[in-house]
Amino acid sequence: PADGAPLLVLEDLKRHFGGVKAVDGLSVSVQSGAIHGLIGPNGSGKSTVVNVISGLYTPSSGRVLLRGSALPTGSLFRVARAGVARTFQNLQLFGELTALENVMVALKGVYRSPLPMVLFGLGRAEERRARADALALLNLIGLRGQALNKAKDLTYGAQRFLEIARALARKPDLLILDEPAAGLAHPDVLQQIEIIKRVHQRGITIILIEHHMDVVSELCSTVTVLDGGKVIAEGAPDEVKRHPKVVEAYLGQ
Ligand code: ADP
Ligand code: MG
Repeated sequence: PADGAPLLVLEDLKRHFGGVKAVDGLSVSVQSGAIHGLIGPNGSGKSTVVNVISGLYTPSSGRVLLRGSALPTGSLFRVARAGVARTFQNLQLFGELTALENVMVALKGVYRSPLPMVLFGLGRAEERRARADALALLNLIGLRGQALNKAKDLTYGAQRFLEIARALARKPDLLILDEPAAGLAHPDVLQQIEIIKRVHQRGITIILIEHHMDVVSELCSTVTVLDGGKVIAEGAPDEVKRHPKVVEAYLGQ
């Protein structure tokens, strides 16, 4: 919004695993409409932050606010219903289902039906609507022509794009992408950049965890850099990557 109100705020967020301080007092504001980068060396706490925001883990302490209200904690379902969707660093597709069915299953959160209902039991009008929604999402990720292929038969890159379409099926206000380019060949990385831009143009705020600094520079307005579960730098990508602490953290890897 014009007043610059943040969509998501992390307030002194902590998540410890025994003695491991995976997330150790993070305070971050994500502006509405931004593509906000989250970077840092391996083990710096990026995935743990996402796991806490998305409800997979409960925080040890601190708060997560969405539009100023506390986001439910410890429930993937309730967080998704509040308008926050995520992808996983490892793929979570149904290999034996088609690309179209994979998206339709994800739509069940919207249509409030159990899986068999989505695939077989929806009323004719609802089924048409679900199918049309799913096809539109496949079109957005460039997979409209492979709608009837089984997920396991798609290329690895296409599977990663399909995961984005599945997350979008929940009609989120905030989409969190955890290393979506991991393992992608260069042409697929370029296509993924285009997909992320299209998603952003739909008005969806994005948190992007990404290793490739050129991808971050191309897409993100703001970047938060983590090391040891703490923020070590924040700002525009081109400033942040010259920050001495950031250079040091990456060299020390
Ligand atoms: P990143 O995504 O930045 O590579 P992670 O958030 O995965 O980092 O991990 C941060 C730290 O927390 C690491 O030391 C990791 O081993 C630890 N960690 C993450 N998840 C767990 C868990 N479920 N149990 C124990 N330790 C964990
Ligand atoms: Mg990670």
